[in-house]
Amino acid sequence: MTKSVLEERKASISDRRETGGGISCERESVSGAVSQRACVYCGARVVLNPITDAYHIVHGPIGCASYTWDIRGSLTSGADTFRNSFSTDLREADVVFGGAKKLAAAIDELVESAKPAPKLIFVFATCIVGVIGDDVDAVCRAAEAKHGIRVIPVKAPGFSGTKSLGYRMACDAIMALVLPHANQSKRFGVNILGDFNLAGEMWIIKGYLEQIGIPVVSTITGDSSYKKLILAPSASLNLVQCAGSSAYLAERMEAEFGMPSVRVSFYGIEDTTNSLLRVADALGKPEISERARKFAAERTAQIMPVIAKYKPHLEGKRAAIFVGGGFKAISLIRQFNELGMEAVVVGTQTGKKDEYEVINSLVNSGTVVLDDANPAELEKFMTEKKADILVGGVKERPLAYKLGMAFCDHNHERKHPLAGFEGIENFVREIHNSINSPVWKYVKGDAA
Ligand code: SF4
Repeated sequence: MTKSVLEERKASISDRRETGGGISCERESVSGAVSQRACVYCGARVVLNPITDAYHIVHGPIGCASYTWDIRGSLTSGADTFRNSFSTDLREADVVFGGAKKLAAAIDELVESAKPAPKLIFVFATCIVGVIGDDVDAVCRAAEAKHGIRVIPVKAPGFSGTKSLGYRMACDAIMALVLPHANQSKRFGVNILGDFNLAGEMWIIKGYLEQIGIPVVSTITGDSSYKKLILAPSASLNLVQCAGSSAYLAERMEAEFGMPSVRVSFYGIEDTTNSLLRVADALGKPEISERARKFAAERTAQIMPVIAKYKPHLEGKRAAIFVGGGFKAISLIRQFNELGMEAVVVGTQTGKKDEYEVINSLVNSGTVVLDDANPAELEKFMTEKKADILVGGVKERPLAYKLGMAFCDHNHERKHPLAGFEGIENFVREIHNSINSPVWKYVKGDAA
């Protein structure tokens, strides 16, 4: 490893399969490394934001609210309240004298004037509130008693940990919402956790499950609503799609409601097929397992000509992956393998030890695996490994383009689905169009 990697970062980077996945992860970002991660509050906000009829009040300076306003491309089949953002806009005087009264007044104003009338409000306390010590719990409790609605505090100052802590806080907020509804009769059906209905992906997965005879009880949090969320304790099984944000919620639901869970990923043929079969088998009904097998086989047969069309143009190309969670990175490595491509750099913002072990077992010796990367490291390793394309999010896009490299957006903001069999077609086409675009010849100056 050369000098351009900070000494303190070396333990989080591995370039040998033989390390057995033993890289350092699940820890706070190194000071001065300019991490690609977002803050604790952002982690909480992105999980809770897709609840379509919830109001989100950001108790803090206006910057926190604008930084996270509408940053997910989550679609709704009902209310679009979640597309708005509310803030107490704390100023200097509030910092000196306290912001609790301002927060209470903001909740009152929202309840009195907002249309449709709020049933559920989340109050996010950001950095400065953590410093001045407003009693946000007391304000929310008083507001619940006064207005007879749910007002749930999410105390998520950015400095209190990593984005993963924000995920946990969002999961705790969801538990606070559903716990009073624990004593419902059980029904046959599943909850989908950790899917945020980006570009309608939740609807695709829900459609598959319903076609094979599995009803979806509640979705957390893509295209969800207050009414649908409180049904969650009645389901028979939790499916955990984004484990980074929702595995903890599944653990809490198992402890509180005795509800088992299975991890799923609907990216790529292999993981989509295996996930459908695992879910069907977990429900213990042979006729559903049989339908799942038939459905997956039919859809795989339909998608294979698409793979065959693009594969000759992609075989041998090298991919760099930098995404939020480990499970998505694992699916992407498998998707690139299906296309005859090799993942030469693989990183995540919040991957866990067991996920890095799987990643290391899938990649070739020499592939660079890194946790919580910064732009300098991504640039260094993508250049060294001669990556042809970077798969990442909005923060990584300019980096790829500045390096004259193809890019595929696999994050919150995209407008087209990449999950399920429909998503496979979009993904393969996008990878092909980006890698084989004639523009790179001109950017790199080797056009004829
Ligand atoms: S780090 Fe603190 S101030 Fe910055 S957006 Fe996050 S919560 Fe707000």
